[in-house]
Amino acid sequence: PKIQNKIAAGEVVERPSSVVKELIENSLDANADEIEVFIEESGMKLIRIVDNGDGIHQTDAPLLFQRHATSKIGDDYDLFQIRSLGFRGEALASIGAVAKVKVETKHLDGEPVTIRFEGGELKEQGPGKERQGTDISISELFFNTPARLKYVRSMRTESGKIIDIIQRMALAYPGVSFRLTLDHSEKLYTKGNGNLKEVISDIYGLNIARHAVRIEAQDADFRITGYAIRPEVNRSNRNYINLSVNQRHIRNFRLSQSIINAYHTLLAKEKYPIVVIDMEMDPKIVDVNVHPAKIEVRFSKEKELNGLLESAVRTSLKDEML
Ligand code: ADP
Ligand code: MG
Repeated sequence: PKIQNKIAAGEVVERPSSVVKELIENSLDANADEIEVFIEESGMKLIRIVDNGDGIHQTDAPLLFQRHATSKIGDDYDLFQIRSLGFRGEALASIGAVAKVKVETKHLDGEPVTIRFEGGELKEQGPGKERQGTDISISELFFNTPARLKYVRSMRTESGKIIDIIQRMALAYPGVSFRLTLDHSEKLYTKGNGNLKEVISDIYGLNIARHAVRIEAQDADFRITGYAIRPEVNRSNRNYINLSVNQRHIRNFRLSQSIINAYHTLLAKEKYPIVVIDMEMDPKIVDVNVHPAKIEVRFSKEKELNGLLESAVRTSLKDEML
């Protein structure tokens, strides 16, 4: 494989869980509303994603693993108006360079095709199954790199990370049904009927979902929606803060701190929040181009957003406690 693809693999797809994330983002970008994920041996043996999205046209399929083969962005201007989750055309090229890949896909207006790649090279191309959507299998990830050994050694940690990222995506997309099967046993299922409280129940259990209070706030730039869970059933670390911007799962230290502050003005200091919050805003306010994995984001009106978020969480917790 080309050297720059191996380099890119180090940043975009640094580990099995980041491969899973990139592939699910592609399914979401293709408008899938059913996504099934099959993982074997923490993704080191198999990562398979089956979606019912728009599919890939047979003429595009052989180009899939080329660098910057993206269908999502027209010109530089688009970079400031990003709606789709992917836009760099790096993920598949990076993954293809370090794994064995099989894609079965049928585009809405195309013929079903099957293609196989190995270490970034097209090995086989032929007819596929008559099934709308894309079925992509990544086997023997990192088979041609030293990184493989590292993840083979830490498989349990990696399974945990895969579960975590899928849970966060399911919470950000209550309208999409997710199923996760780990080593042949089902670990997560969400119906995809759009009911966020049900997703919270599917992931954290009925007891927590029952205590979820609605969060809603809006100003000229931001609309914040979601749920906060009351203290009695709280957990004791910050892993239960689920944040998304325009449904893109993000991490942001300051925003998490604002939420923790809101909890701590009302509750004991050792209690940490469980929240599921989406923040809608004009994509121009967000810079997602900070890191290739697109999880760290910056905002041009960060102070305003922090203030709105803190007061929204505090208000809904307070209402519930009255
Ligand atoms: P990006 O998402 O940044 O465009 P990727 O390397 O992740 O780049 O994907 C390359 C292209 O392959 C996408 O732009 C899209 O056209 C196509 N593609 C990948 N996965 C799917 C999928 N599950 N369904 C439909 N198209 C897909
Ligand atoms: Mg992508």
